[in-house]
Amino acid sequence: MKSLLLSAYNHLEIADFPAPVAGPGEVLVRVAACGICGSDVHGYDGSSGRRIPPIVMGHEAAGTIAAIGEGVKGYAVGDRVTFDSTLYCGACFYCQRGEVNLCDNRQVIGVSCGDYRRHGAFAEYVAVPQRILYRLPDNLSFADAAMLEAASVALHAVRISQLRDGETALVIGAGMIGLLTMQAAQALGCERVFVSDIDASRLGLATEVGARETLHCSGAELVAELLKRTEGRGVDIAFEAVGRNETVNAAIDCTQKGGTVTLIGNIQPEVTLPLQKVVTRQLHLQGSCASAGEYPQAIELIASGKIQVAPLITAIAPLEEGPRWFSRLHAREPNLMKVILTP
Ligand SMILES: [Zn+2]
Ligand SMILES: [Zn+2]
Repeated sequence: MKSLLLSAYNHLEIADFPAPVAGPGEVLVRVAACGICGSDVHGYDGSSGRRIPPIVMGHEAAGTIAAIGEGVKGYAVGDRVTFDSTLYCGACFYCQRGEVNLCDNRQVIGVSCGDYRRHGAFAEYVAVPQRILYRLPDNLSFADAAMLEAASVALHAVRISQLRDGETALVIGAGMIGLLTMQAAQALGCERVFVSDIDASRLGLATEVGARETLHCSGAELVAELLKRTEGRGVDIAFEAVGRNETVNAAIDCTQKGGTVTLIGNIQPEVTLPLQKVVTRQLHLQGSCASAGEYPQAIELIASGKIQVAPLITAIAPLEEGPRWFSRLHAREPNLMKVILTP
């Protein structure tokens, strides 16, 4: 089968690769669309250590079932499906509590990190266990379905923040996850959601997908402006979707006493924590990782248009253009959001 193979760091090629077979409990999916994730771009040059060549990357995919493995029930050849990027074991301490994103034996499709190598969906076919499979409604395109993983990540962050109806929120960072988090918070009943970024074009996109209050500033300026708009009190919940020292600190300063700061971004592995502020203002610091059971909700919200993903797709391109898109994303060309490849 045709695949986009990372044969060496910074080197992608279209290669003929043996097609996977659907083992027991698995289905073979003919891939129709697969999004390039930020983590793929960070793996491509070796910096994350999670895409050790040779590897076929790609975990944000959708397609149709081409073959059914032994013991698979309830699915048939031709069904339109997507799948969770995370493979969980279903048996460990965390899986039994339903926290499958924290599985001790977690594997991610399209990742090769030394402990395991699991080829992904930048190829004509991928084999996945039925456990992580979801059926797609007819009105959801494959390209939109490739955005489900990111939408699930956003919904997870909102859910574990225990957002209540009518609360206010701030999303710092109007990138892919930030804009989906903003929409998820609004869809789940958040009255006022502010979005901040230093990039005006991203804020324009935020407005396009329903942002009502955007803040084109950062750091002390952002804190001053946000406090001005919230009677000096700050928001109930700040979602930090960047992960730098300055943005984490701004999130803390923008949150009202007793409120929650949900940390999603992690560009920097470490930041300075203003301990005294967190303690004396009794803030909750909440990390958020991947998703755990939010796929069905993400499917419903995207299919019903309550979360808009089409404006966040920069390009839909054939697999052969993969190497060029990876190098453009890697070079951090401005105004690129999601690029989807169609094998
Ligand atoms: Zn991803
Ligand atoms: Zn597990």
